[in-house]
Amino acid sequence: MKISRMLTSWPRSLLFKTPYTCNIKITTRCNLQCGFCGLWSLPAGSELPIDTYAYIADLLDKLGLARVVITGGEPLLRNDAADILSLFSRRGFSTTLLTNGTLLTPYTMKRLVKLGLNDIGISLDTLNTSKLDHICHGKNIRNKIIDAIKLSVDSLTNGIVEVLTTVTSENLMDIPDIVSFVHHKLGAWSVINPVNIPPGDSAVLSASKPQWAPPFPDELVDSVYDRLIGMKRSGVRILVSDTFLEDSRYYLKTGCFKWDCDAGERYFTIFPDGSLAPCSDQLSIRSVLTMTPHDFRSAEYIRTVRDVQKRCGGCIFSCWREASYLFSRQSVWKERLVTMNRFIRGR
Ligand code: SF4
Ligand code: SF4
Repeated sequence: MKISRMLTSWPRSLLFKTPYTCNIKITTRCNLQCGFCGLWSLPAGSELPIDTYAYIADLLDKLGLARVVITGGEPLLRNDAADILSLFSRRGFSTTLLTNGTLLTPYTMKRLVKLGLNDIGISLDTLNTSKLDHICHGKNIRNKIIDAIKLSVDSLTNGIVEVLTTVTSENLMDIPDIVSFVHHKLGAWSVINPVNIPPGDSAVLSASKPQWAPPFPDELVDSVYDRLIGMKRSGVRILVSDTFLEDSRYYLKTGCFKWDCDAGERYFTIFPDGSLAPCSDQLSIRSVLTMTPHDFRSAEYIRTVRDVQKRCGGCIFSCWREASYLFSRQSVWKERLVTMNRFIRGR
């Protein structure tokens, strides 16, 4: 993470309620087909050429964003992913790449680091080879992903390597072992996110496996989340906040994930064709290519995104909740400072 940028953008975002972070989906194509993800089943749409991202980087810089997350689909399916990322790192954003890790080679990693990558997030949903292939419709992908995480830890000596685990009925009981493996064997950080399965079919990232969704038995959820909280207290690298862990516990027991979100105000998503949505699970509201920094504070924009917030049934994406909590929960901000301190000391 680029701590200086995160710290200097925060007061501005707090005072003027301007966006702090955004996800940029440079493609919806993916070489995997995870059962809880709807992206890979979308028809392949148009993808912006790299030159257009220079315009977007300029716009987001003027807007004062702290962090840009380059994601997909699988972003490394684009040969110019590292070059796109460099347009944002050159502007001083804290940059993160989210990938499934299966296409990450030493050459690509070297380029990404050279071009300014700060942090990386790699998905790993179970340690069991056949179960992982079943969840992601892959073929022997476990070792490729583990190698990608090890490569990232070795290469990103000044960055955070996040291992992203989606909790479903398939892997709930395995989560503490995954987190322990990530800490002790890989030296990376865990981001544990319950599967997001909204009712109906309105969500962009809707899952096709409702049988993987909560509610789960209280005692099972408590036994897993009590262990996670205990592990975190003892220093195991778990990046999500205590607040989010408790949100997750509640959701996994009840299936309820309504919350007061800030979609479109604290964060937003840019899709591969340049359309902008309040978050990754909503439809686009306009093209970012026609927007100015002023538009993000216009009455029409605020009315539109608040209408989306009001109509939405909720979600349990850690990225959006944590970004929002940074402005509303002191405890989350304090935890972030502790993480930054730990990160500076190289632990
Ligand atoms: S979750 Fe990620 S890796 Fe899996 S299908 Fe969706 S975009 Fe691809
Ligand atoms: S609750 Fe907010 S952030 Fe979550 S899906 Fe709905 S609009 Fe998006």
